[in-house]
Parts: sequence; structure tokens; C-alpha cells
Amino acid sequence: DAIIRTENLTKTYGSGQVTTHALRGVSLEIPRGAFCAIVGPSGHGKSTLMHLVGGLDRPSAGQVAVDGIELTGLANSDLARLRAEKIGFVFQFFNLLGSLTAEENVAAAMMFAGIPEKQQKERARELLELVGLGEKLGARPRQLSGGQQQRVAIARALANDPDILLMDEPTGNLDSAAEAEVLAAVAELHRQGKTVVIVTHNPEIARQAQMVVEIRDGRLASA
Ligand code: ADP
Ligand code: ADP
Repeated sequence: DAIIRTENLTKTYGSGQVTTHALRGVSLEIPRGAFCAIVGPSGHGKSTLMHLVGGLDRPSAGQVAVDGIELTGLANSDLARLRAEKIGFVFQFFNLLGSLTAEENVAAAMMFAGIPEKQQKERARELLELVGLGEKLGARPRQLSGGQQQRVAIARALANDPDILLMDEPTGNLDSAAEAEVLAAVAELHRQGKTVVIVTHNPEIARQAQMVVEIRDGRLASA
């Protein structure tokens, strides 16, 4: 049962004489509940693959299906809804709102889902506890370490209880202690059944993954 399936996924940026062939036909299946590491050199298409799988961008050719739903055929509004319901994103830079507390940053992600304010707060607290930040509900981003900020970002990505967590170098900006904190939170989410797809340059993370996808020059490299 593949929760993510791509077929000949292709992305070319630009037009005319200045084009970049970021992805050149990637076909893969990621099983439901997997912990999948995406590895490969910088600039070879990993982020592009994540953006297409997450419906943040459209392919030039080929297909991507999430939970059996073909994204290429969806109107933008349906794509946005599927993204909100099924996918949580975590990026290298946390992009938290500096004027909001940890709890408010997580709750803010629930506003569009029409969840009443009281429930938003309750759920935000639960999620922050899950990532080990139950003591930091009222802290603002600048009062938190890098690893703590990234765990707030993970809690925020979980706000709408997505099946899939797409993480693009979530520890790329962290020291090794902070990285360990973040990975512990990710391991717990995987244990709870989330499908985790993580772009990483850390061989240790790749070693722990059940599935390693290597992208080279926009293609799958055979391991
Ligand atoms: P990686 O994640 O492996 O570092 P990317 O997917 O970010 O690789 O980039 C693959 C190639 O596509 C690179 O040459 C990059 O410069 C190019 N690229 C990525 N995003 C864009 C964009 N929005 N517009 C133009 N080129 C892009
Ligand atoms: P990552 O470190 O995750 O690979 P990048 O720093 O390569 O991310 O890219 C950050 C953002 O800039 C992405 O949205 C990507 O699509 C865009 N981008 C990357 N390369 C280019 C490029 N050559 N031209 C325009 N946009 C780009």
C-alpha cells in the first residue's frame, strides 16, 4: 500500500534558453507508515521532489499520487485542501512567527480548518507536549534554542493531523545536540504511524531509515 507514488515525475524550471532539468523522470513508491530518507548531492532535485510530492508545485510531466489521489488532475483549490488535510511540511528554516508564542504558532495553523479557538489551544498544547515542549508553551521563538524552534515547527506541521510529514533538511541548520532532539520527536511520530519523508545529508539518519532514495542529477540513483 503506497501512500506516495510517483511516475516519471519530471520538472523543468524556466523557459526558452535558460532551463534547469531539476527532475528527469522519477518513479517511486513510498509505503504507508514508512520512514524514508531522500539523499543525494546539493542541487540535484531533492527539494523539487518534495515540493511536487507535497503539491506545492506542479510537475512538467509525469504524475504524483498521494493516498491514491492523483495530484496532477486537481484544481488548485482541491490541491490546497488535500495538502492541508494530508501533509505536514517542515523546512530547514523554521519560519515561525516571531511575535507569537509557541502555542500560538501551532494554534495559528488550525485557524483555517475552522476549529474553535479553545480546541485549537488544547490541541496545540498536546502537540507541543508530544515534541517535548510542554514547558515552553508561552515562549516566543527568540527565547527558544534552534532545536526547540524546529520542534515547534514540527508541532505546527502536525496541527491538522496529517498522514504524511515531509521534511526538507529539518536539521540542516542545527548542531548535533539539537539535531538529536528533533530526531527523537520525529522517531516518536513515526512510531505513532506517520509516514515520514526526510531530505537529509546526515548518513546516520539515512542509516536509521527503512527506505533510502538517492537522487542524482534529477534521477533515482540505484543504491
Ligand atoms: P536539492 O534539493 O537537491 O538541493 P533542488 O531541487 O533545490 O535540489 O534544485 C534542483 C535544481 O533545480 C538546481 O539546479 C536548482 O538551482 C534548480 N531550481 C530549484 N528550484 C528552482 C526554481 N524555483 N527556479 C529555478 N530553478 C530552480
Ligand atoms: P534546499 O536547501 O531545500 O535545497 P534551496 O535553498 O535550494 O533549498 O531553495 C530554496 C528555495 O529557492 C526553493 O523554493 C527553491 O525552489 C528555490 N530555488 C532554488 N534554486 C533556485 C534557482 N536557481 N532559481 C530560483 N529559485 C530557486
